[in-house]
Amino acid sequence: MDCKEAEKKIPSFLDDELDGRGLAEFVEHIDDCPECMEELSIQFLVAEGLEQLEQGNNFNLQKALTWKLEDADDKIRINRALRRILLVLEAAVVVVIAAALVIVSM
Ligand SMILES: [Zn+2]
Repeated sequence: MDCKEAEKKIPSFLDDELDGRGLAEFVEHIDDCPECMEELSIQFLVAEGLEQLEQGNNFNLQKALTWKLEDADDKIRINRALRRILLVLEAAVVVVIAAALVIVSM
């Protein structure tokens, strides 16, 4: 993912609309790209910080953004784990079918 794409995805990320591969690629880019991280911080402040401040809540932007990114990491990890389980299940099904074919042809 390049900076242009990442920048376009910032609002979706802030709305929790990114998922799966899109989310993984976005976070991967943000982790290595200080410019996009800065852009994300700014948009995050605008989108959520002002709202929180208006409500009179004490708001720690850096902490809140860190939480959000950690949340995304969790989501990515869960997605990867699920995908791995699916792959194992698929492999198991293939083995069962192969075994069944062998038995039938005996
Ligand atoms: Zn970038």
